Amino acid sequence: EAARDILMDAKERDDNRLGVEAMGLLDAYGIETPAGEVVDEPADAVTVAENIDGPVVMKIVSPDILHKSDIGGVKVGVANENVYDAYEDLVARATNYQPDATILGVQVQEMVDLDDGTETIVGVNRDPQFGPLVLFGLGGIFVEVLEDTTLRVAPVSEPEAREMIDEVKAAPLLRGARGRTPADVEGVIETIQRLSQLVTDFPAILELDINPLVAGPDGVRAVDVRLTVD
Ligand code: ADP
Ligand code: MG
Repeated sequence: EAARDILMDAKERDDNRLGVEAMGLLDAYGIETPAGEVVDEPADAVTVAENIDGPVVMKIVSPDILHKSDIGGVKVGVANENVYDAYEDLVARATNYQPDATILGVQVQEMVDLDDGTETIVGVNRDPQFGPLVLFGLGGIFVEVLEDTTLRVAPVSEPEAREMIDEVKAAPLLRGARGRTPADVEGVIETIQRLSQLVTDFPAILELDINPLVAGPDGVRAVDVRLTVD
């Protein structure tokens, strides 16, 4: 099974923290991710970008850099003709930040429409007493400042996942308040359940965050994932 292989590979490399390598875990559990690839040459980045419609997002891939945008390691809306230079700039920024950082390359990813979509967070943490706890919230200030989140013990049933959405104060934004396009709430509910199944199946996953899971009118996309394995 694909998910098992990804976790076994990480164990063999003695890697406790996974980022883009874990995108395949989500795919294996039917959680959609934007098209994209990791490359280690600027010319290859151009080739990947040319095969993706419209501008792309580019992100530094390094086990030493966990919060990519903190160091300017994420570029959104890069046009094909700027991809080559953007690659070199991302590597320069990372090296500048940490001269001995291991840089594996750059992820070139399809852009997800954020004007019509809402950034949400779905995460998991293992609690010594309760086991895996699944967290849901709307991204950005709702989670970071207002701590508007909700938790359930995995595995999360469909009615529980539905309750989670309704529990966060910002939920009306997902449902189309303030003139927004209503998001695919059913897709979010499904994603919460699928993620809870993933961590139930693999006790080696200690922590996992999809941040953001972009919920748009036509579906949800896991744009960024980070996890810790035992
Ligand atoms: P990190 O959390 O490590 O800084 P992310 O991959 O989450 O890196 O990217 C940071 C932000 O950039 C996201 O929260 C989102 O707003 C934006 N972003 C990232 N990837 C995409 C994408 N494919 N399409 C649109 N926006 C994106
Ligand atoms: Mg992120």
